[in-house]
Amino acid sequence: MSVFADLHIHSTSSDGQYTPFEIVRLAKARGLGAIALTDHDSLEGLNEAAQAGKVMGLQVIPGVELSTDDYLNLHILGYAFPPDAPGLIEMTTQMKVGRDERKYRILEFLRRQGVEISLSEVDEAAKGGVIGRPHFAQVMLRHGVVSTREEAFDRYLDTPEFQEIEKGTKPSAELCIKTIKTAGGKASLAHPYQIVLGKDRLEGLVKQLAAYGLDAIECYYPRHTPKQVDEYLELAAKLGLHVTGGSDFHGEKHKPDHLLTAWKLDLDWMFL
Ligand code: AMP
Ligand code: ZN
Ligand code: FE
Ligand code: FE
Repeated sequence: MSVFADLHIHSTSSDGQYTPFEIVRLAKARGLGAIALTDHDSLEGLNEAAQAGKVMGLQVIPGVELSTDDYLNLHILGYAFPPDAPGLIEMTTQMKVGRDERKYRILEFLRRQGVEISLSEVDEAAKGGVIGRPHFAQVMLRHGVVSTREEAFDRYLDTPEFQEIEKGTKPSAELCIKTIKTAGGKASLAHPYQIVLGKDRLEGLVKQLAAYGLDAIECYYPRHTPKQVDEYLELAAKLGLHVTGGSDFHGEKHKPDHLLTAWKLDLDWMFL
C-alpha cells in the first residue's frame, strides 16, 4: 500500500529550524500520511516526534541520517529501528563526541584562511543540537564574511581542502549500514546525486553497499532532475532495492528550496 510520505527531515536536534513537535504539526497540516525524522547523527528528537505523532494522528517512523567517511556527503538514512537500540545509541553518542572535536578543527581551518569567528556563537546557533557546517555558515553570514549561506559552502565548507580535515573522523558506510541493520532497521542511500560519481561508478558503489545490507535508494529528492530520478529508479530495480524519497527539509529559513513534500511511497517493506 502506498502512503504520501516525506522520509528525510531535520529538526533542532541537528541543523533544522523547527523542533520535532513543530515538524509533526507542519507535516499534519501539509496532509502527509507519514514522516521520518532523520537528524544528522542524532536520535535525540525521536521520542518527541513519536509522541507528537500519537497525539496528532500522524505515522512517525524513527529515522537518522548518518554521515560516513567514504565520501563527503555519502549519507546513510536509517529507518524503523527501535529508538533505544544500544548499537545506534552508542554510534550516535560517539559521533556527537566526534562533532564536538570537529568544531575546533573547523574553527582552526577557517582561521588559517583568515576567517575569525567565535565558537560561542556557533554553539549558540546549534542550540544544543549536534553542530554542523550550516551553523558555521550562519555565523559567517551574520558577520558579513560571506553574503549568502551558499557562498560559505562554496568558498570554505564544501571544498576539497575542507574534505581533507574530515578524513578518518567518521564511521565507514559499511559500519553505518551494519549498525542500522543489527538494530533491526532498514538502510537507504541518501541523495545519491551528492556523491558526484558517474553512472558506472555509482552502480559499483551501490552494489557494494547492497552487499553490506543496504535496502533502498533515496530516488526522490528535490534536487534530483527527472533524468536522475529515472536513473536511480532503474538502478534500484536492477539491484532489487526499495525506493525512498525525502525533501531534506531543514525549515524554509535554512533551505528554502527543500519544503515538506508528499512522495507517494510503498512503505510496507520497512516493517517486514
Ligand atoms: P555536516 O553534517 O556538518 O556535514 O553538514 C551537512 C549539512 O550541510 C547538510 O545537511 C546541508 O544542510 C548542508 N550542506 C552541505 N553542503 C552544502 C552546500 N554545498 N550548500 C548548502 N548547504 C550544504
Ligand atoms: Zn543538514
Ligand atoms: Fe545529507
Ligand atoms: Fe539531510
